[in-house]
Amino acid sequence: MIQQILLPLAKQGGAEVVTGYSVDRLNMTKDAITSIHLQKGRQQPHTISTNAVIIASGGYLNNEWMIDHHTPFQMPILPINSGHNTGDGLQLAYDVGAQKSKLGVIMLCGGTIKDLSQPAYKYRDDSVCIAAAKQGMLWVNERGNRFVDESIAENLSLAGNALVSQNRVFSILDQTTLNQLSAGPIPRPMNFGAGALTQLSGLTDEVAKMAASNQPYIHTAESITELAEQLDTPKLVETVTRYRQFCQHQADDDFGKPAKYLYDLSKGPYYAIELAAGAFCTVGGLKVDRGNAVLNHKGQPISGLYAVGNDAAGVLVGDTYGFNVPGTEAGYAVYSGRHAVDSIADLI
Ligand SMILES: Cc1cc2nc3c(=O)[nH]c(=O)nc-3n(C[C@H](O)[C@H](O)[C@H](O)COP(=O)(O)OP(=O)(O)OC[C@H]3O[C@@H](n4cnc5c(N)ncnc54)[C@H](O)[C@@H]3O)c2cc1C
Repeated sequence: MIQQILLPLAKQGGAEVVTGYSVDRLNMTKDAITSIHLQKGRQQPHTISTNAVIIASGGYLNNEWMIDHHTPFQMPILPINSGHNTGDGLQLAYDVGAQKSKLGVIMLCGGTIKDLSQPAYKYRDDSVCIAAAKQGMLWVNERGNRFVDESIAENLSLAGNALVSQNRVFSILDQTTLNQLSAGPIPRPMNFGAGALTQLSGLTDEVAKMAASNQPYIHTAESITELAEQLDTPKLVETVTRYRQFCQHQADDDFGKPAKYLYDLSKGPYYAIELAAGAFCTVGGLKVDRGNAVLNHKGQPISGLYAVGNDAAGVLVGDTYGFNVPGTEAGYAVYSGRHAVDSIADLI
């Protein structure tokens, strides 16, 4: 949409579009924006005079320092995005006196394999990740206890929030379960746009390959007792014994998980695959008024400075985070962009 429709229209309207530049400073006199400073690689920097700037840098999900300092989670948050949301826009605004607001809110998107060596998007369509994180199989925490009805995997936001409430999460699978998921039908068919995926063909081989790679996020054992020792999860044996009773009676007395997700863990080898929370973007960081003007520490607008999209999206969240309406965040990016442009039309 941007390339084919919006860009030609903007150019027709007289806009000059430059790419590959990084804005590294906003210049102000008194209380108003006067220019921006741009850098492109080793080229001569540019200064562009303006009395209106819209910040739309997409938040700070790829800024490890900001994520560490502004979020309370013990579990790593693995970005599933472009890698370019480094918090630059927020920092530019803070440097000219903008108020920090709603930092720490993240649009989580369920579980992913805790592989810190690969970008998390690589696991989006991966059969092991689908089995471990998205099919409602048994999840235990760092003590070996269940903590949620694992069918919560059906909802990306809720699943992400459940995962980050624990220090560590392991998905527990056995050989019979792998064989069943391989043969299909899987309890939760996935839809990646090319028709529904109803079985995870090759899953057994993929898990065996991953286990043979000795990666820290996968553990294998012949018995649950041995697995509990490896993971240092003292309650695991008790949890699995109780869970197996639920599977045999097809009723989850502890969390009420629907019976279609209850796969008995009857036959080794057993596998524990460690999960982390995936994330699409951060939400908020700057405080804006109804016209999307950025507010300073006193709650007053910084003249000429506006923010939209993820940088300003703190307006979408209150005391709790509930992104259950599809498109909430992307919708706000479109709405706020248009709204900010309307607000500055008289200024430029
Ligand atoms: C995989 C994925 C799935 C998603 N699914 C949904 C969904 O289902 N529903 C929903 O509502 N939202 C979803 N989102 C979130 C939604 O896409 C974002 O909220 C939206 O794109 C934010 O737009 P933005 O303009 O704020 O930021 P972005 O689209 O990230 O754009 C910011 C731009 O600023 C650039 N930039 C950063 N720093 C600088 C700098 N210093 N100088 C110049 N340029 C800079 C970046 O390169 C980037 O191009 C999803 C996101 C991802 C990654």
